[in-house]
Amino acid sequence: MRTALLSGGVGGARLARGLAALPEVDLSVIVNVGDDAEIYGLYVSPDLDTVVYTLAGAQGPQGWGVAEDTLTVMGWLAGFPIDTDFAIGDRDLATNLFRTERLSRGWGLAMVTEAIASGLGVATQVLPASEQKVRTQVKLADGGWIGFQEYFVTRGHRDDIEDVRFAGADQADAGPGVIEAIEAADILVIGPSNPPLSIWPVLAIPDVARAVGAHGRTVGVSPLIGGKALKGPADRVLRSLGFAEGNLGVVEAYGGLLHDFFIDPIDASDEMPGVKVHVTDLDLQTQEAATRFARQMLEAL
Ligand code: GDP
Ligand code: CA
Repeated sequence: MRTALLSGGVGGARLARGLAALPEVDLSVIVNVGDDAEIYGLYVSPDLDTVVYTLAGAQGPQGWGVAEDTLTVMGWLAGFPIDTDFAIGDRDLATNLFRTERLSRGWGLAMVTEAIASGLGVATQVLPASEQKVRTQVKLADGGWIGFQEYFVTRGHRDDIEDVRFAGADQADAGPGVIEAIEAADILVIGPSNPPLSIWPVLAIPDVARAVGAHGRTVGVSPLIGGKALKGPADRVLRSLGFAEGNLGVVEAYGGLLHDFFIDPIDASDEMPGVKVHVTDLDLQTQEAATRFARQMLEAL
């Protein structure tokens, strides 16, 4: 069964490792690059790394970063006149060094990602949504636009946001293999990621939007349990952008793209016209839970 998964970081990554564990599934994960940034002169790609680390079983305790990482470099760096608010662990830094070095030699982001995945023993195809620059920016209530990492990491996603845009997306092409993976997929899954901040930047790339819109079987998995995000601001962002509370807001945020939608039993009374709703335990935090969900999802379709 060919399956393509659109993913941000932690939520999408957790579903990816569930699907990857099923022998009958041939999985391609198409990952948001709107959070990418230049930090300490390095090309940082947080969602790609979260997906690869999670598939490798090497993710950190919060779901991102690397397990048992240390902060030796950051500690030393803090002695210099530089802002170290964006902390990157030593192992994680090595990934970013490798990526930056390869990109500077002219490799594309897809090829670099493949090398990182294979270096970590990951066989699943992990594809950047685009190799060109797409940068998520958010508009704060005071009217100013700021970059995603400033909003999310430096300011701790506490601000209410009025709007979101994806600079460069309209000029960007889909990354190598992305359109092929979507077109070949028997099932196209939109993972339990933050809809406006993690999935919209993927859908903002015109040829990705076209391929997704043309797909006959698009399946969503909710990032909400009990109406709330398990981590991060998805519920608050949906509300502040004017969408309905709860899962209806998620479906609205995908504007008619979803045919099927999976929600947690605790939200079973949510009503969503226009999609086929499936109710299944959506806690994907362990490998076992994610694999169980992936199996139930495929059985239900
Ligand atoms: P980020 O880049 O790490 O912020 O990544 P995502 O957008 O992929 O993930 C954030 C979303 O994942 C949040 O809205 C969470 O609610 C959701 N999430 C994280 N873990 C789980 C889980 O185990 N189950 C479900 N259903 N959603 C999850
Ligand atoms: Ca992210």
